[in-house]
Amino acid sequence: MSCIFCQIAAGEIDSDIVYQDHQVVAFRDLNPQAPVHILIIPREHISNLDQASAENADLLGHCALVAAEIARAEGLAESGYRLVTNVGPDAGQSVDHMHFHLLGGRRMQWPPG
Ligand code: 5GP
Ligand code: ZN
Repeated sequence: MSCIFCQIAAGEIDSDIVYQDHQVVAFRDLNPQAPVHILIIPREHISNLDQASAENADLLGHCALVAAEIARAEGLAESGYRLVTNVGPDAGQSVDHMHFHLLGGRRMQWPPG
């Protein structure tokens, strides 16, 4: 198993896990881009959103709702936050296991760079 996020989900690589259940794991990004930077990943290996299908609809919805729950727990609900998933080279996807970045705790620019 060479996928680093599969290894994190399996507990084979240490990470600062903030939430987990039978479908998803959420942990703090190693190289945070904001005061709060948490990655939400499915336990199932799906390369990115382009590789997801209708079968994954519940899982995708669960990822989004877990992100909102974590954002509330991190105190971001009022100040706001951003939920991002990078797909492929133009978006700068660097880990080939679908993940949602939850970013918050500072004012962000729009459009993103
Ligand atoms: P991407 O660029 O693919 O959208 O995001 C990948 C993210 O994973 C990056 O923000 C990077 O800092 C984070 N990351 C890469 N390897 C590790 C790791 O081993 N542990 C943790 N916690 N984050 C990682
Ligand atoms: Zn994986």
